[in-house]
Amino acid sequence: MPWKIRCANCNTEKVLNISFDISSQKTIYIYCNVCKRNTFNEILGYYE
Ligand SMILES: [Zn+2]
Repeated sequence: MPWKIRCANCNTEKVLNISFDISSQKTIYIYCNVCKRNTFNEILGYYE
């Protein structure tokens, strides 16, 4: 499922493809290829 997320550190929006539902959480801690490290990312919603 594609999810639209935004890095809380650099504010880059990107699409994350994962197979489970993350709509119940507000943030996800994941690698950001702009920051080149793991950061908190805000989950903006399901990407259509
Ligand atoms: Zn970032």
